Amino acid sequence: MDAIQRVAERRADLTDVVTSLSRRLAGIKEASEWTSNDDEHDPEGVTIAFERAQVAGLLEMARTELGELDLAEARIRAGAYGVCERCGRPVGDGRLEVLPAARTCVACADRRR
Ligand SMILES: [Zn+2]
Repeated sequence: MDAIQRVAERRADLTDVVTSLSRRLAGIKEASEWTSNDDEHDPEGVTIAFERAQVAGLLEMARTELGELDLAEARIRAGAYGVCERCGRPVGDGRLEVLPAARTCVACADRRR
């Protein structure tokens, strides 16, 4: 599979994720409207708030990765894809398979942590 296909496939997966998470978030918001009258005394209100924050966080991550995939596509067109942005060495096929939007090689990514 070449890079452009890999990015397209990951984008399709993420688009599905964003759709289902958005739906879940809407469902949670709806549910919280029914329980928010007595938030402090309602243990369910806390659970819903927690789940809502969790789903919102996942949604944010998926959207960020979609943005990264746009950048990856631009790099493919520019012929700069798969080259580590920090050290200029190849990012590596195995890594790109798992993370098609990766901008750095494993060594540089580890150093950043
Ligand atoms: Zn590197």
